[in-house]
Amino acid sequence: MDFLKQLGIQSNNLGTCSNGLWLQSPKEKPIISYNPATTEEIAQVSGCGLSQYEQVIASAMNAFSQWKQVPAPKRGELVRIMGEILRQHKDELGSLVALEMGKSKREGVGEVQEMIDMADFAVGQSRMLYGLTMHSERPQHRMYEQWHPLGICGVISSFNFPVAVWAWNAFIAAICGNTVVWKPSSKTPLCAIAVQHMCNQAMSQLGVEGIFSLFIPYDHTVAEKFIHDKRVPLISFTGSCKVGLQVNEMVAKRMGRVILELGGNNAIIVDETANLPLAISAIVFGAIGTAGQRCTSTRRLFVQRSIFDEVINRLLHAYQQITIGSPLDEKNLMGPLIDAKAVDAYVNAIETIKKSGGEILFGGKVLSMKGYYVEPTIVKAKHDYPIVQQETFAPILYVIPYEKLSDAIAMQNAVEQGLSSALFTNSVVNSEYFLSAMGSDCGIANINIGTSGAEIGGAFGGEKQTGGGREAGSDSWKSYMRRQTNTINWSKAMPLAQGITFEVGS
Ligand code: NAD
Repeated sequence: MDFLKQLGIQSNNLGTCSNGLWLQSPKEKPIISYNPATTEEIAQVSGCGLSQYEQVIASAMNAFSQWKQVPAPKRGELVRIMGEILRQHKDELGSLVALEMGKSKREGVGEVQEMIDMADFAVGQSRMLYGLTMHSERPQHRMYEQWHPLGICGVISSFNFPVAVWAWNAFIAAICGNTVVWKPSSKTPLCAIAVQHMCNQAMSQLGVEGIFSLFIPYDHTVAEKFIHDKRVPLISFTGSCKVGLQVNEMVAKRMGRVILELGGNNAIIVDETANLPLAISAIVFGAIGTAGQRCTSTRRLFVQRSIFDEVINRLLHAYQQITIGSPLDEKNLMGPLIDAKAVDAYVNAIETIKKSGGEILFGGKVLSMKGYYVEPTIVKAKHDYPIVQQETFAPILYVIPYEKLSDAIAMQNAVEQGLSSALFTNSVVNSEYFLSAMGSDCGIANINIGTSGAEIGGAFGGEKQTGGGREAGSDSWKSYMRRQTNTINWSKAMPLAQGITFEVGS
């Protein structure tokens, strides 16, 4: 695997990184990186202990005191360099994502392209950290608002987007004048180490240090210290609803700020006017892409009853063509699940579906080959099965017929999560209804585009148990800055509120 070497991954740098130095702690338990396609070990990473964590935070605070003074467009230069390094290593990093996370190589490379797009966006944004000017109600007063950096932005990322989630946060946080400390998923430590190498190269090229750093603890003790740490004003957490809720409580207790990007239970609705070939490719990609391990994966499909059989037949035909196997082999469309626990969750979900009365139309079994492979699965279900209301992180698609569009939207909105949603239609009335306040309650609502993936130019995130966070484009940058309202009195008078005056002499 030459790409590991090309990404600079060697046995002496598999650990925590602060100020360009790789710190290893032989006393701590190592984190083992596994290949989900073979279940074999790839490498061992030195776990981060408390003293190394302290070193990371101290350097990041120190770097912040300098970085916040650098003009924002110059801060953009660091991200521009990162974008170039990522372009040079796009194929290798994409391969590493495929190797360690298990998504297909094409998706792995696509994830790196998302980082590059995000870098380009952030460079432009570095010249557009606009504040408003308001008219003061007092004469000869000027009033405006400006945006200042926060300090250290903590990023805790999930395994399924082992590099892009960091980039969404880190590039915007950095141009806003913050330093960034990253705790990646312990399931994908090598992806984080490879990215940190690129960060070190970019920082050294610009002659700065400590803007981006990384720690990878073995268990949650050090991660929880991070979440509780008052020196970290913002925690951007991407992961499950369950852990996200705990993070929210911990950070709220210290009056810190959170960005929460949590689980989804996304639905596509197909109405009787829809262009079916368009809908079918979006449904298949949404349901089986990343083996159903995307926050935006399509999990529920509501089909108008008059076209239900036709949609099922077309889906079955498409599912028969899904090639499953090594993610590094580009002919395969679907790779393995991340680990044995994920396979158990798939098996439990299938058993529960059967017990509830669901009908397996395709798949439903664990594949008898080395690696954590399962069959992509289609189930005819009823929406009131409790399992349908949950996010099972696996390629299981529940199909449910409906009569009226308002019923389909009501079912779509009836779950606790509110991330991504889509309607396939050629009716302008149905489209407008779906996008109106009476329609989808999700953070993302699409017409004739599936639920999965999103362009970085828009604000990404979801409502309800998905956490309400917004990242990437639009004005998401505001979450990484503090707003200050400034009023300047350039008159010779001191107009006090409620007409109060004091005798102060001349
Ligand atoms: P997870 O909640 O198990 O872990 C997320 C991160 O939190 C990891 O870095 C993990 O090591 C850490 N963590 C776990 N328990 C912790 C604890 N007690 N204290 C401190 N840190 C802890 O999630 P996962 O399995 O890595 O990712 C899958 C989940 O993430 C799914 O629910 C998916 O929908 C969600 N997700 C959401 C988005 C989004 O943008 N909305 C994007 C990607 C993934």
